[in-house]
Amino acid sequence: MNPRLARILVDGTTDREFDYTVPDALVDGVQVGSRVRLPFRHRQLLGTVIALPAVSEVPVEKLRPITSVVGDDPAIPAVLLELARWISEYYCAPLDQAMRGVLPDVIRKAEIDFKERQFARLVRAPDEEEAAALAKRSPRRAELLAALESAPSQRVQVVQLLEDLGTTRQTLQGLVKLGFVAIEHGTIPRDPFGANVFLADTPLILNPEQSAALREVRDMMMTPRAEQKPMLLHGVTGSGKTEIYLQAIAMARAKGRGALVLVPEISLTPQTVERFKSRFAGAGDEVAVLHSRLSEGERHDEWHRIHSGEARIVIGARSAIFAPVREPGLIVVDEEHEGSYKQEEAPRYHARDIAVVRAKLEGCAVLLGSATPSLESYHNATTGKYVLLNLTTRVDDRKMPIIRIIDMRRESQRQNSSGPSVLSEKLRTAVTSRLDKGEQTILFLNRRGFASAMLCPKCGFVCECPNCSLALTFHRTNDLLMCHLCGHRQKAPKRCPNPDCRDPAIRHRGFGTERVEDVVAKVFPKARIARMDADTMTGKHAHRDALGAFKAGKTDILVGTQMIAKGLHFPNVTLVGIINADLSLHMNDFRAAERTFQLLTQVAGRAGRGDMEGEVIVQTCTPMSPAIQFARHHDFQGFWEQESEFRQTCDHPPFTHLVLITVRSPHKERAEFSAQTMARRIRENLPRGAVMFDPLPAPWEKLKTYYRFQIQLRSRAILTLSRYVRQVLDALPLPEDVQAQVDVDPQQLL
Ligand code: ADP
Ligand code: ZN
Repeated sequence: MNPRLARILVDGTTDREFDYTVPDALVDGVQVGSRVRLPFRHRQLLGTVIALPAVSEVPVEKLRPITSVVGDDPAIPAVLLELARWISEYYCAPLDQAMRGVLPDVIRKAEIDFKERQFARLVRAPDEEEAAALAKRSPRRAELLAALESAPSQRVQVVQLLEDLGTTRQTLQGLVKLGFVAIEHGTIPRDPFGANVFLADTPLILNPEQSAALREVRDMMMTPRAEQKPMLLHGVTGSGKTEIYLQAIAMARAKGRGALVLVPEISLTPQTVERFKSRFAGAGDEVAVLHSRLSEGERHDEWHRIHSGEARIVIGARSAIFAPVREPGLIVVDEEHEGSYKQEEAPRYHARDIAVVRAKLEGCAVLLGSATPSLESYHNATTGKYVLLNLTTRVDDRKMPIIRIIDMRRESQRQNSSGPSVLSEKLRTAVTSRLDKGEQTILFLNRRGFASAMLCPKCGFVCECPNCSLALTFHRTNDLLMCHLCGHRQKAPKRCPNPDCRDPAIRHRGFGTERVEDVVAKVFPKARIARMDADTMTGKHAHRDALGAFKAGKTDILVGTQMIAKGLHFPNVTLVGIINADLSLHMNDFRAAERTFQLLTQVAGRAGRGDMEGEVIVQTCTPMSPAIQFARHHDFQGFWEQESEFRQTCDHPPFTHLVLITVRSPHKERAEFSAQTMARRIRENLPRGAVMFDPLPAPWEKLKTYYRFQIQLRSRAILTLSRYVRQVLDALPLPEDVQAQVDVDPQQLL
């Protein structure tokens, strides 16, 4: 009989698949999706079984056998293998790279396992006679047994037990042999929320709009898979979208199915997690949480808890879309418009789009939610590809906050100052009145640091990053100039660094959160102020602590970056000040208006969530720009109509798809030359309907010491275009110091 064969994608070998034989002893263990160890040339490598073919093109006697299987189950569920294939094709990525996106490193490498996290559990307490005998023959065993008996749930981690008692594994093994103790793998060992207790809470009574939306979600979950459509839940901030997610998930669970909830990393706050953990607290620890601050060990444990079916509900950031949830009945993507769902390194997938694809493969419902849907999703809703659900009012009919626009051009005339003013008079007055009433204020600015640049007023010299084409940001706390792109840092100069100038009057221009905090502290010396941005939030619990203090009313004014723009719910916040609304508007990007609209709406949504009405003050130098005006009137529809017309006229997404190829090299001429060559090749057989633009220097021409040129392509038939681009690039050798990266549906054009 012929030996069994396995087709394997060996880690690190891009797209080639290799056949191996399966030794008899492993036949039961090797399945599609298994992770295996195998001989490759002169080394042992890991790989993934992607098929069990009946025959191989290579003569069987030339094939080598698999060494061993890593883990028990097939590590990768079939759906995730299919997703990896889809990603590889759609996003122009080698399959191995796509696979790396799908499977966390810690699982792939299989270096960490449960060994050090075994638990000893008391199986049976000794009766009196046995206890006496044990105490006499082996006091150490008796002691160990007693310790287990008195432990909560009579279960202790092995390492800890041995360490506490200063005893050996042999002592423990003796007790196992006698049948008193069992050793088992820990399943809830490194629970990152271990110290918290989650009080069970119950579903709220929905208002009519919520009920109607939930009914539609339920109906969709029961629709035969061929007729299912993705749903877009457009609900204003505070309209109770999360409550709908929670109740829809409960429905999925009632049918024995799991659920997957994606939230942006930044809003994966303790508050959000708590809501999910509390709602499903009754049913054991069903909720697994995946975020980027997990240690490798924690990630490993959570992954296995999900994979084994112990955790059936997963809440997590972008890459959680690949969590091995069993039989999901619903996938939720909250804040679906968020740019952070797009992974900015290869494989450059968009988790929202993956969610839609995965739901289709799983035959489950998918619910995208947002107060400010992306134009892509809203477009799909208007064409009938998605089903649109609406929540038009805030829960309990709370009013939407009043939004006031302050023209900062006039403000700086009035204040008679040379530089930009941080706080307008209106904002100052508004903050004062909140302080008087004991209410809280959030001040938002989308830029950290003290000053956005240092420049010499005499010769015009601007301190730029040596590695990037970007001005350095001044951070006063440590008197440094920092590059927010590459992390470069240098001492802030005392005089102009231009050797021909050396003027001591070098100045700061523009401002960031550090400066806002500084100004606020001067203007309101009695106020308790906290700042939340990437500079202050460095510790593991910094975020949780800062928000905790704010929630407890220990902070009057919270200054922060986008970190505070999302998903927070503080009833006592009645004022939100947007210090500079123009920061995102003037970016060289067709999505600038969309981003501004989203940001203003989201930040404004933080105000007036309690019983008190909220007020939002927006400072801008372009008060009449449509994004600001539509946000002011809470008019998504108006914004959509105007913006989609503009996009259609200019042939921008969502009316087409983009592919952005970036060619980079430490040598400018080489990057440019390679980009030109590539563009010529691509043009030769460009698929019909696709458009290519000539290579241009990237907006940040230099980034992290590389010079960059970009080729932009557009087409409605995106799969055809990606396949074609991949084919051309695969056939085009690049010089050693030139690299190309392809971004399909890019979010960043920089
Ligand atoms: P969104 O996600 O749309 O911003 P949330 O789901 O966070 O809104 O809801 C805002 C607040 O209203 C939360 O405190 C939530 O508990 C509460 N809430 C939601 N639905 C109801 C309801 N039907 N009745 C009472 N309170 C509700
Ligand atoms: Zn830099």
